[in-house]
Amino acid sequence: MKKGLFPGSFDPFTRGHEAIVLKAIELFDEVIIGIGINNSKKNLFDIKKRIFHINKLFENYPNIQIVTYETLTVEYCKVIGAQNIIRGLRNSSDFEYEKSIAQMNKTISGIETVFFLSDEKYSAINSSIIREMYINKAAIIDFVPLPEFLI
Ligand code: ADP
Repeated sequence: MKKGLFPGSFDPFTRGHEAIVLKAIELFDEVIIGIGINNSKKNLFDIKKRIFHINKLFENYPNIQIVTYETLTVEYCKVIGAQNIIRGLRNSSDFEYEKSIAQMNKTISGIETVFFLSDEKYSAINSSIIREMYINKAAIIDFVPLPEFLI
C-alpha cells in the first residue's frame, strides 16, 4: 500500500494543486492532502471552507483524503504511514526552495519527497496571486475548481 502525503496551505486549492493530485494518484494507492496548520501564517480562506471545498472536489475518489495536521510534515507522515511526501514544481524557484526542504526532510526522517512537474497551462497559478485577485473582487473561476464550494 503506497501512501503519499501532499502537504500545503491550499489557501485556496487551485487547478494547479488539483492537477498534481491527479498525477500522484496514478502512482500512489492513496493520496492524503494535508493542510498544515501554522498559527503564525495568516490565511484568507477559512480552514473549514478549504476542507469542504477539497472534499467536494474529490468526492468520487475514495483513495484521496483531506486532513489537517499541526506537527512537522515528516512526523505526520509517520503517524499516518505515508512513505513519501508529494510536492509540485512550477519553475526553478520552486525547485530551489523545495530542494532544501526535501533534503532536510530526508536527513531527519529518511522520508523521500516525490515531485511532479506542473503542466505548462497551470504553471502560473499561484495561491497568493489568487488571494490578491479575490480580495480585489476579480473572478477566480479559471484558476480554482468549483469555487462555489469555497466562497
Ligand atoms: P505551501 O504553503 O506549503 O507552499 P501551497 O499550498 O502554496 O503550500 O503549495 C503546495 C504545493 O503545491 C507546493 O509543492 C507547491 O509548489 C505546489 N503548487 C502550488 N501551485 C502549483 C501549481 N500551479 N502547479 C503545480 N504545483 C503547484
